[in-house]
Amino acid sequence: MPKIFVTRRIPEAGIRKLEEKGHEVVVSPEDRVLQKKELIEALAGQNYDAVLCLLTDTIDGDVLDAAGKQCKIFANVAVGFDNIDLVAAAERNVMITNTPGVLTNTVAEHTFALMLAAAHRVVEADRFTRAGLYGGWAPMLLLGNDLSGKTVGIVGLGRIGSRVAYHAVKGFDAKVIYYDVARNEQFEQEFGAIYKASVDELLPEADFVSIHVPLLDSTRHLMNAERLRLMKPTAYLVNTSRGPIVDEAALVDALKSGVIRGAALDVFENEPKLASGLAELENVVLTPHIASATEETRSAMSALAADNIIAALEGQTPPNLVKKM
Ligand code: NAD
Repeated sequence: MPKIFVTRRIPEAGIRKLEEKGHEVVVSPEDRVLQKKELIEALAGQNYDAVLCLLTDTIDGDVLDAAGKQCKIFANVAVGFDNIDLVAAAERNVMITNTPGVLTNTVAEHTFALMLAAAHRVVEADRFTRAGLYGGWAPMLLLGNDLSGKTVGIVGLGRIGSRVAYHAVKGFDAKVIYYDVARNEQFEQEFGAIYKASVDELLPEADFVSIHVPLLDSTRHLMNAERLRLMKPTAYLVNTSRGPIVDEAALVDALKSGVIRGAALDVFENEPKLASGLAELENVVLTPHIASATEETRSAMSALAADNIIAALEGQTPPNLVKKM
């Protein structure tokens, strides 16, 4: 009977699928991130055929070696796979899979939750109200900005970026401009989106900049101090992709000194730590990497990771096999 290790408690859907296939599933008893040493200890000598892992697990050559030669697949419960050394996996003939698509709508919704929360100062206003500071309606109280009719700049028009663009156009009559290494002329025709040949060209025109590129060597600190200065002083930056794409210390400076008006972040450069000074700022909305965290979507991600394992153990190519970009 194939044996599968799950690195942390996840929604039942995936576990059930694996068990229904007759696989033995061992879930880490610790409901927390396993340190590399602990993960190696949990895997070594156990002859697992597959590992279901999370974006908080660092999967490198040492971990793959600990799992052993019989281990065919590490199925990551995330779209991003920047936590996995793909070269080390390829060298050891271990398949790596992710969970794209099933979380697109949820992450796009969360992006709007953040965008609107920042521009309408929702969290700041909530703090204000709870603190007993509300003394009655006032014409100048907590003025924010509209999203409707504004220019939304999408960096990375993939699955999530294009869904955000769709909502911006359809729901908010916004103008969409985008930058991506791959141009999508069909999307441009359908939704009137305008392609910009570089991030530098996009930034000065956008009222909202939303980041949806994967974390790669080419996208690390894509939003640095210099690029933040290219944004309008009235603009907002939203990041639901990966923290290290934004230079967080530079963002704190930009928010403090009025280089940009506001920001909203679901991801951080050194999770779970926040850059010094970030949490003290009123003009930033922060959520703890929960953009895909709805009951529906986390169950679907769990089930999709299981599908990938089932396919791999049946000798098929898993539906979401990833390769190095
Ligand atoms: P995707 O692969 O469909 O889209 C990524 C897009 O970025 C592609 O169109 C690609 O061409 C483009 N791209 C790649 N490198 C680029 C570069 N250097 N410059 C410009 N464009 C570039 O992925 P997706 O499903 O839309 O997910 C996007 C990212 O969102 C993931 O990689 C993941 O890191 C992140 N994500 C975060 C959460 C969360 O919980 N906050 C949830 C899901 C996904």
